[in-house]
Formats: sequence, C-alpha cells, structure tokens
Amino acid sequence: MPGPELDPGVYELFAVKYATHGRTAAANFVDPPDPHEAMPIDYFVWAAVSDDRTFVIDMGFTKETADDRARTHLRCPTEALALIGVDAKTVKDVIVTHFHYDHIGNFDKFPAAKFHLQDREMAFATGRHMLDPAHGSSMNVDDVVGMVRHVYGNRVVFHDGDAELAPGIALHHIGGHTAGLQAVTVMTKRGVVVVASDACHLYANIETRNPFPVIFERDKVLEGYDTLERLAPTPAHIVPGHDPLVLNRYPAVSDDLDGIAIRLDVDPKAS
Ligand SMILES: [Zn+2]
Repeated sequence: MPGPELDPGVYELFAVKYATHGRTAAANFVDPPDPHEAMPIDYFVWAAVSDDRTFVIDMGFTKETADDRARTHLRCPTEALALIGVDAKTVKDVIVTHFHYDHIGNFDKFPAAKFHLQDREMAFATGRHMLDPAHGSSMNVDDVVGMVRHVYGNRVVFHDGDAELAPGIALHHIGGHTAGLQAVTVMTKRGVVVVASDACHLYANIETRNPFPVIFERDKVLEGYDTLERLAPTPAHIVPGHDPLVLNRYPAVSDDLDGIAIRLDVDPKAS
C-alpha cells in the first residue's frame, strides 16, 4: 500500500510480527539484571515501500522450524506481508540481514527476488565457525544450502560492507552477532529509520550496553550499538529486531492489524 504522494527516495516502512517466544531475561542478556524475569521476544519481518519499489527485509521462519525450535508461529511472514499489501511472489528485492534461522527461512516464497547479503555472512555460514554449535545451532543447514543454490541461480547480490541499494535505502555491515550481520537505513517522512535487525535485539540491549548473548565477536556488537546511534537521527529512530515494545510504541497499520502490523515511518507513540 504505497502512499499516493511519496517523494522519490522516501519509503513507507512497516514491521509485521509473525512469531513469539516466551522466555526469561537470562536468554536475552549477557548479564541479565534478573535472570528469572519473564521477557518474551517477538519475531518480525520488515518492508520498505515506495511508489515504485519494495524492499522486504528478512523472511522469518516456517511453521516447521517453529515446531523444531519450540517457537510460537502465529502466521507465515508472507501472509503477514500480504496483509499490508506486499505480495511476496512479486517482490524483487529481499535484504537478508543475516543467516540465522529466524531471518532467512521462506525464501522459496519469493520466486522473483534477488537476495542482498554480505560476503562475510555467506563465508561465515559455510565455513569453519559452523563447526562450533555456539554459532552453527542458530542456522538451519537447509536454509544455508538453499541460499547457496540461489548463488548458482544468480539470485544473490553480494555486498562487501556498506552499500546504497537505491536512493533512500542502504545497507550497513555491523557484524558482532554474526560475522556478516547488516542493518538497513530507510529514508522515511520522519527521517532516516534504522532497521537494526539483530544488531540490537531489544531496546534494553542498546540502552544498557548489555548485549544479547548470542555473539560471534563481542567488541563488534558493542561497536555496532555506536554505529546504530550514529546512523539514526535520534534513539527513537532505531528499531530493534525482537522487542515486543516495538508493537506498543508504533501505531498499527489499521485497527484490524493491531498487534500484527505497525508503521515505523511515523513517530513512536511513547518511548
Ligand atoms: Zn533474530
């Protein structure tokens, strides 16, 4: 549902929630303030839509993966995207922030897409670090192999570091959580919004510099928080990848999508 009068290079920006997981704070921080505190996380995909282009950011996971990993699957991410007028079958550009199972599944449902990813993430996901379950267990090998097949099918666009994909849309290599993790900046009518994905899982991770405990390189995680703050005009322009508070802070796309789809291109209701 592109807006009728968007300037060139300005996007509407949406998040849709497709899954959730009940857990305690012990699973969300290196140094949890109260490890027993209930602290669920949500799972999102994002879409940036202008009058002439649509970029989907991440693809979520399938019901099968949810069952395997004991996550609560609420809806297929592509069904959630359809609710905001984004047809996965016709999307031409998908940004893959990193290869963890909750970001890279469902690629078969985007038959027209090219997948934008970092050289370093493909090397990471197919190399020696996957011998370590601390890193490999967050990947679904079939997803990784599927993306390798898309390399041979000429459906992958590799990036080495920061890149502008189009006016108003840019990738920023962050690393830290995985070797090739990238965040995305999107120009909207409220200015640049940073879709952090897992460069910042929860508001509290960045606000207290207390990282999420799935880490490849800790110094890069902390530098990444600085990078997100540098890229964003204000902290309220950073959108964490897994925080249920995001749904509370931004308005629903419509009344019937309350709790499912929100607008990130308008100011948050509270912070
Ligand atoms: Zn994630």
